[in-house]
Amino acid sequence: MNPITGHTKLTALLGSPVSHSISPLMHNEAFRKLGLDYVYLCFDVNEHALPEAVAGLRSCGIRGFNLTMPDKNKMVELADELSPAARLIGAVNTVVNEKGRLIGHNTDGIGYMHSVKDAGYDILGKTITIMGAGGAATAICAQAALDGVAKIHIFARRTSRFWDRTQHLADTINASLPCRAELHDNEDKTALRQAVEESALLLNATSVGMAPNTEASIITDRNLFREDLIVSDVIYNPRETKFLKLAREAGCRTFNGMYMLLYQGAEAFRIWTGVDMPVEHIKRMYFS
Ligand code: NAP
Repeated sequence: MNPITGHTKLTALLGSPVSHSISPLMHNEAFRKLGLDYVYLCFDVNEHALPEAVAGLRSCGIRGFNLTMPDKNKMVELADELSPAARLIGAVNTVVNEKGRLIGHNTDGIGYMHSVKDAGYDILGKTITIMGAGGAATAICAQAALDGVAKIHIFARRTSRFWDRTQHLADTINASLPCRAELHDNEDKTALRQAVEESALLLNATSVGMAPNTEASIITDRNLFREDLIVSDVIYNPRETKFLKLAREAGCRTFNGMYMLLYQGAEAFRIWTGVDMPVEHIKRMYFS
């Protein structure tokens, strides 16, 4: 770790809980490796305490911070300005303090899109299918549309608390971007088969299959998988979910959510410091 001086710039993670996060390891190691005079700390702050915490950090001249659950949506109201992605998603996971103005970004979708490239695939101009309508699904859907994915099928439970929000996101994408977005009911098996058939990539962006419920899979019908389908999961614990295992056994190329996590952090790092995170070094340290 770099020595903390009177010049050290503060960055942080706000959320509740935060003590399990890998972000302090990742950012502090990257600061150390590049000799940047920054430090990254975690603060357990829930959404009720967030306005006060943000006001205090702004007064203290914090350089920037990340937000995790449950603070990502609330931060939209507290930022002075939002990036196009943060506005479309309706959630902020990264804030940069530019001379007292707090600019809200959302790097989760950028992280996912980068992880697709890192795995060696190009999905721009193609059709994809996303399972889920929560925070991760929304961020990825919005960024995919902004980046130039041609069509996105989104599948969610009709009873989801996110259904209306996701329909609104699809309507906004359809009205403002060249991308086509369609929301479908999980129970519509015909629509699911057709969507996957025309997709280059199928993504699980639900929490189904996450530890400790590792025997669950959002897709159980192996016939949906075909050899030229790329299949990925936002989950990284376990490294291979049941969903990815079924897809791999069917001959699909698969990758998990590890590098989405890495690259959302790398993008925040670049926003704060103006310098690229040494991702290959961070991969070797914490992601292998
Ligand atoms: P969230 O906002 O709570 O959304 C969860 C989604 O999963 C909702 O659409 C929910 O549907 C769906 N879901 C849960 N159980 C289901 C079931 N049995 N059947 C069908 N759908 C179900 O959570 P999130 O923040 O999006 O996180 C989702 C997953 O992504 C978590 O595992 C999280 O760890 C992971 N994640 C990874 C990264 C990364 O960097 N790799 C980043 C963010 C999140 P309902 O609304 O119908 O309940």
